[in-house]
Amino acid sequence: MTNYQFKIEEIIDKIQSMEVKVVGLQFPEGLKTHATDLAREIEEKTDSLVLISGDPCYGACDLSDKEMEGCVDLLIHFGHTPLPIDQKIPILYIEAHYQLESIQILKKALKYLKDKKKIGLVTTTQHLHLLEDATKILEKSGKKVLMKEGRGTLKGQVLGCNFSSVQDLPVDAFLYLGSGNFHPLGIKLSTQKTVIIADPYLNQVRNIDEFTDKILRIRFARITRASEAEKFGILVSSKEGQFRWDLAKNLKKIITKRGMSAYLIILDEITPQNLMPFMDLDAFVVTACPRIAIDDSKMYEKPLLTPQELEIVLGLRDWEDYEMDEIKY
Ligand code: SF4
Repeated sequence: MTNYQFKIEEIIDKIQSMEVKVVGLQFPEGLKTHATDLAREIEEKTDSLVLISGDPCYGACDLSDKEMEGCVDLLIHFGHTPLPIDQKIPILYIEAHYQLESIQILKKALKYLKDKKKIGLVTTTQHLHLLEDATKILEKSGKKVLMKEGRGTLKGQVLGCNFSSVQDLPVDAFLYLGSGNFHPLGIKLSTQKTVIIADPYLNQVRNIDEFTDKILRIRFARITRASEAEKFGILVSSKEGQFRWDLAKNLKKIITKRGMSAYLIILDEITPQNLMPFMDLDAFVVTACPRIAIDDSKMYEKPLLTPQELEIVLGLRDWEDYEMDEIKY
């Protein structure tokens, strides 16, 4: 029994209406353990053969359409909403909403928002279906709830690289419904407003400020270390939704203009192992997923920077204007 809604009926209907012979399934890491159960159910209920993508996947930026082109008639991508990027084959997106037993944690969160009237409600794909009930709870307590769509995101939805749905929202504070710190950190850095996390998994309410300070201290240390760098690697992703070639070329130009060297390196997966042959370089700038430099920083021997952090290193931006890197589709 799973807490995720995989909308199996919708999947079966789509496969049958398209007379799909081979269907591809792609899951983010947290959902991959459901792959074989779903594959079995699809093969039992339809005449199609299932091909499961075994590669890591963290977003709709990383579709396995290129790998599956020619093998499958339809790719079912779970856990994410579509991004405005080219797709090589037909794709059905299944958001895989998580069925929480309760969102009463919001009542606890209200204690942290006593002096705030206008609240921006935010979450990620897995919990979008809860926003309506969450709004009712907040409004019953006299709050005014504000949400908007972003660039390629739904109302109240943020991605790890896209905070456009919270930017310029005239609220007194944001309330994030979900787990983890990464999305709330992005909301904080893009808006500078109070961000309260209502985490129904840990049954915990917390303010993101302490975590933000910790991350900023780490980023400051990386930037300081990279200030001594003379040779940079500029990492470009071959994943369609993370491919920022113009940005990478521009960064190389900026670095070389200052008399330092920069090398463009394209990879599918950025990992410490894949960077091992390039240890003659002093620092790396990541033009791929913006999470890599921030989230995985501890795993790397050399500093990994976002493009905005490189600007600070080169004196083109002040530390006070620190900004989260975002992918603008
Ligand atoms: S680029 Fe990174 S943060 Fe953005 S959707 Fe892809 S995996 Fe998520």
